[in-house]
Amino acid sequence: MGHHRRRVFVLGLDGATGDLLFPWAKEGSLPTIKEILEKGTGGALASTLPPLTVPAWMSFMTGKKPEKHGLFDFVYRVPDSYAVYPVNSTLSSESSLWSLLSKADKTVGVLNVPVTYPPEEVNGFMITGMLTPEGVLDYAYPLSLIEELKKHVPEYAVWPTRAYHFPGGEETLLDFIREMTRVRIKAIKYLLGRYDWDFFMTVFRSTDVVQHWFWRFMDQEHFRHDSAASEKLKSAILSVYQEIDAYLKELLDSFAQDTLLIVMSDHGFGPLEKYVYINNFLLDRGYLRLKKTPKAQAKFLLYKTGLTPFNLYRIVLRLKMGKNIAAVSKHHRKGFRAFIQKLFLSFDDVDWKNTQAYSRGNSGAIFINKQGREPAGSVSEEDFKKVEKNIIDDLSSWRDPQSGERMVGRLFGTGETPWKTSSQNFPDIYFEMTNDKYFPFARYNFPSNSWMEPAFDLSGWHRKEGVLMLSGQGVKRGVPIKRAHIIDLAPTILAYLGVPIPEGMDGRVLKELFEDRIFEEVPLTYTQDLGQREISGKEFSEEEAQRIKEKLKDLGYFS
Ligand SMILES: [Zn+2]
Repeated sequence: MGHHRRRVFVLGLDGATGDLLFPWAKEGSLPTIKEILEKGTGGALASTLPPLTVPAWMSFMTGKKPEKHGLFDFVYRVPDSYAVYPVNSTLSSESSLWSLLSKADKTVGVLNVPVTYPPEEVNGFMITGMLTPEGVLDYAYPLSLIEELKKHVPEYAVWPTRAYHFPGGEETLLDFIREMTRVRIKAIKYLLGRYDWDFFMTVFRSTDVVQHWFWRFMDQEHFRHDSAASEKLKSAILSVYQEIDAYLKELLDSFAQDTLLIVMSDHGFGPLEKYVYINNFLLDRGYLRLKKTPKAQAKFLLYKTGLTPFNLYRIVLRLKMGKNIAAVSKHHRKGFRAFIQKLFLSFDDVDWKNTQAYSRGNSGAIFINKQGREPAGSVSEEDFKKVEKNIIDDLSSWRDPQSGERMVGRLFGTGETPWKTSSQNFPDIYFEMTNDKYFPFARYNFPSNSWMEPAFDLSGWHRKEGVLMLSGQGVKRGVPIKRAHIIDLAPTILAYLGVPIPEGMDGRVLKELFEDRIFEEVPLTYTQDLGQREISGKEFSEEEAQRIKEKLKDLGYFS
């Protein structure tokens, strides 16, 4: 064949944004990132719709859009139920990058990529990541690797999380996040020394977690910025990046000439200011109805008084109850969120027979309560389009009282491009807010009588543009990255390694970023999309699902 060996190392930084990374690199705070940008190239990487960890990493590993691979959120709607369940890797019908590489006899190592549990049998090894239920013992392939890794890195945990509820707990959480990063690095070092690989990939989750909770300490413009906070909290986010940057230097120096390094994220990040409570909107507009039971009505009265989670949070702080609640929560694994859940209306109070629509999950998702699909479906086939149109019209006419601007930005109904899907997990209506600092979701069900309230716990949230950096063998220096999408990485990596690309992949090979010789020595080839695998739909046990839900709550997702 006349070409040298090629290898690919992918370093995933969950939620990493160029808005922070590039200026920090430029000023010298992240010297290795700076070196990568100087030797190679960097730019924005478009995320999925919605820009959430699960659909985005799944799109990375399949080269396909969410409407094709079928995963939309951390949770999916259980068929014939109003309940949602955590997703797992078997819910996707599409072949992963590592299975395609394995079939082509490439050796792979995959460590801690989200939503890879249960693991696949690959030509190499694989340890799953985020959304691995706590307590399971089958999160690695080969299975014996768990024991082996634990022998060398005893503190290793596959998906560690920690709850945090009130001021005072930040430093502990930050220490935990940084420790999590250090343990990951130890695990990578061990595995790199243990296995040979053509493709190695790992994802750090700590960048995402630290940005969710610590954005307000760094960002002086944030409405909850704390100017009196310690230097440690103000530089919390940078400190996590610096820890990874220092290790990246070691990695970079250890690579042979034959390696392509890809540093990337699944979505970007930015400040979070307002929570948009979709179910409140549906309740106010009569699409969603409550039961007439005394309990539901009493909660409805409280809802009407206008008590908000944000106000409640401040009252609790003022009463200096924070510490007590944190202590209680640690013991019972409940906290402020559970407290809210008890106080405010929940889905238990919904009169489903008279409800037309509801929201679930971590994005602008609305499900119509359809006859024959939902257990107490109330909207007939004939009325479906009418109800859908009414909701869309209502959302579209929502204006900012001050500026008169539309509050809701892009909005899609059923069957609308890019929203055509056969997946039952997907909502009927999906929308985005005009302002990126406003985050629509269905957590806490009905937390106040407003559609929108100040975000009281998290201070950073996802953005549609993540980051991509490339350096190493064959990368053109300084070519600006334009129009790169997360679905482009799988076909690009396959092409680089000389493996045929399945025709069903939605992404394209990012040829413009490489020297011409790269795809001359090894021409691009395509293959039929035989990659489809059966959806085995592994079901978590009740207990496993519960444990995952608890961990998602720790992270601020799910309710
Ligand atoms: Zn993410």
